[in-house]
Formats: sequence, structure tokens, C-alpha cells
Amino acid sequence: MTKSLDPTDWPAFRALGHRLLDEMLDHIEHRCDSPVWRPLPATTQAALCAPLPMEPQGEAGACADFLAHVLPYPSGNTHPRFWGWVQGAGTPLGVVADMMASAMNPNLAGFQQAPALVEAQVLQWMTELMEFPADASGVLCSSGTMANLLGVAVAMKDRPSSARVYCSEQTHGWVLKAAGLLRLNVCWIPADGDYRISVAALRQAIAADRAAGLQPACVVASAGTVNTGAIDPLDTLARLCAAESLWLHVDGAFGALAYLSPALRPLLAGLPRADSLAFDLHKWFSAPIDCACLLTRHAAQHRATFASTPSYMVPTERGVLAGGVPFADLGIDLTRSFKALKVWLSLKAYGVRHHTAVIEQNVRDAQEFAAAIGAHADFELLAPVPLNVVCFRYAPARLSQDRLDAVNHELLLRLQESGVAVLSSTTLRGQFALRLANVNHRSRPEDFELLRETLLGIGAHLA
Ligand SMILES: *Cc1c(COP(=O)(O)O)cnc(C)c1O
Repeated sequence: MTKSLDPTDWPAFRALGHRLLDEMLDHIEHRCDSPVWRPLPATTQAALCAPLPMEPQGEAGACADFLAHVLPYPSGNTHPRFWGWVQGAGTPLGVVADMMASAMNPNLAGFQQAPALVEAQVLQWMTELMEFPADASGVLCSSGTMANLLGVAVAMKDRPSSARVYCSEQTHGWVLKAAGLLRLNVCWIPADGDYRISVAALRQAIAADRAAGLQPACVVASAGTVNTGAIDPLDTLARLCAAESLWLHVDGAFGALAYLSPALRPLLAGLPRADSLAFDLHKWFSAPIDCACLLTRHAAQHRATFASTPSYMVPTERGVLAGGVPFADLGIDLTRSFKALKVWLSLKAYGVRHHTAVIEQNVRDAQEFAAAIGAHADFELLAPVPLNVVCFRYAPARLSQDRLDAVNHELLLRLQESGVAVLSSTTLRGQFALRLANVNHRSRPEDFELLRETLLGIGAHLA
């Protein structure tokens, strides 16, 4: 008999598929009834170290192993009380979208196919939302790290590797990867008291570099830093870059999405004047991982950075390859997944308005939590809260200053192990900080109250 990987028994597979869809939707609908996170039991660790399967176990058997050993042990980001790192919670519609994308299984390198029009439309919509020029160029990619890397690669095309790239010391770690891969000559600029890039220090560095015969090329700004959500003064930086003929690249991994809100937009004034902008759709837009976007106003330079036309990809005048592979020509990947579908469906289903309301709710809840923390005698706020990231620590008067780092470290781990909520940590001016990042459309005000009570409960037992 000839072989294929389609089911031998379609009705049985259909029943399995329907059951799994129900299991996945049940999992999300009742996610708040299970711990945010729990340690991996030994049985699961053993089950996930099985020998290479040479013989078939069957679709149902394989999926049963997933349900037993994988599904119950996530890191937690679908739960309403996960605020650990900046990770979106995903959506049920996104689950269905990824299934439909896999069923169609198109290669989004380009080609004459409707999915390519969907991606083009999503990019058009992103351009419009970020108020970039209508002829801007864009591409979807896997992550904020990748979108930033692509953006800086475009910025630095044809520049000597000695050319200078400026960024604040608060810039996300992607810049170290980009610096290694693209051989960037990075100049680190100190941040001010609010964790924003010091424009005075930046001006001095540019002048000093010019005087030393170096070529200033690019400023990397953050619209929402990973540590505190600080927003670099984009308007000032856009003017500075225009005056100095420098490329302004903005890392808006999560923060750029705040631009959707008329109330929050003034914080990001100047954003549309960036030469390139990277942002995630799997963070504050809640698309299932992975999906991010790069926009740049320099369409020709964007294409010139990545385009190549091997003989097997030369566009034909008609047929499937008419128009070529435009998306593959705007990034690293040739074969590309249909990420655009989950974004397209979510925008159509919920509209910009509903997405914006979620973002505004996240900021409001984070700021109300910060206000409650700031007002409580046993807590201390450690940074301003311009958006949705709150850095704080447990600091009751009975604890001496030199014990606070260790106590808060232990408090963080016990909170995670309690299964009630997940926070992460960072270091601010040498102090250990608990960090709450709220891009979670499932969180409700009572979730933040429960977090506060739980922290106080655990803290009371820490001497
Ligand atoms: C998350 C984040 C990144 C990296 O994005 P990934 O999608 O995780 O690769 C870059 N910059 C900032 C400010 C981020 O918060």
C-alpha cells in the first residue's frame, strides 16, 4: 500500500480533532482554576525523555501523551495572574487561526495566493495604526528580537562596521545579539532618573565621535523599556536624528501598541517619524506566539538589504510565481508561516477599538496597582510607571536595608511556587526589584488585589 501521513480512518481522526479542539478551549476557558505555574513532576520529566519512537503509537495515543504530560505544565502566560515577563496571553480566536493557517499551510514567501494579500493588508493596517507613510515597507517576523535585528540591518546597510550605533543602557538584550551578528559598534548612553535615554549624554557622544573621526549612523530608542516601561523622548530624538542625519530605530516591542490609544499616544509623540520601528504582535496585541512586525519608511533600502533572486525564484509573467516572493525579500526567512492570519482575524473580529480598550485597561490596572503599592507601608515603588510595568519591593520597617534583596528574591520564588501569581525580577540601581508587566487581557482588578494579599501573606513569614 502506498504511504501518506493522512489519517487512515478519517471519521475517527475527525472525532479526535473535535475532541482536542474542545480540550484546548476548555483549557483556556477554565485556565484560572489551575495554578499559574507548578513544578514539573518526576513522572512528566520521565515521560518527556522517552526513546525515539520507531513504531507508530497512533494519533490518539500521541495526543493523549500531550494531554497528560505537556498541557498541565505551562510556564503560565495564559493565566489571568501571569505578569512575569512581557508575554501575551494569546486568544481562543488565535488558537483557531493557527489551526486554519496550518490547514492551508501556505508558504508566505510571496506567490500569487490570497494569504499573501492578507499579509499585505495586515502590513497596510499596521502602517496606518502607527501613522507611518502609506508607502512604508513592512514585514512580519518571528519576534521582537528579529524585527529589531532586521530594522538595524536595514539602517546599517552599506555602513562601515566602525559606524556608531547609540542606545541607552536600558535597551533590551536583543541589541547584544544584533551587535554580534551585524558587527555593530555600539555606544552605550546612560539613562536619566526616569530610565529614559539621556539626550544630553547622547548629544555629547555624537559630537565626541565626530571629533574623533567616527561616523555616527543610528540611534536606537525604546518605546517602553523592558525593565520599567520607560519611553525615550521620541520627538526630541527624531529632531536630533534629522538634524544629525542619523537613522532613528525604535524598539517598541510592547510599548508601540500604546500608540493605538488616543489617551496614551502623547507619551509616544514622534513615533511615526522613526526611520524604522519594531514591535511584537504576540505581546500587547495578544496574538499567539509568534508574531512581530518591522516597519520602515525606507522601502527601497529595506528590499535592497535582503533581496536575492535565485534562478528557481525568478518571477514569471503569469502563474503561481507572478510577483515573485516579496516577503522573503524583506527578511531572513524564505519559507514563511501564515502569521498574518491571526492578526487579520483579531483585527476584524474585535476591531481596533476593542484592542485599544484592552491596552488602556492594562495600563489603568497596572497604575492602580502601583498606587496601592506606593501607599502601603510595607511596600516600596522602585521606578515610575509610565505604562504597564511596575517595579517594587516588599520593604516593611522591621527589615533592615541589607536584607531586602535576599528577602524579595525568596518572596518572588515562593510566590511563583504558590501557583497564585507569577512575577519576575530585575535590578534597578543595584537593588533587587519585583517586576510586574501587564499585557494580560485576562487580568481583572481582583487579580491584583489577590496578588497584593498573597505577597503580604508570604512576606509575613519571611524574617
Ligand atoms: C520582549 C522585548 C523584546 C524582544 O522581543 P521578543 O519578541 O521577546 O524577541 C525587545 N525589546 C523589548 C522592549 C521587549 O520588551
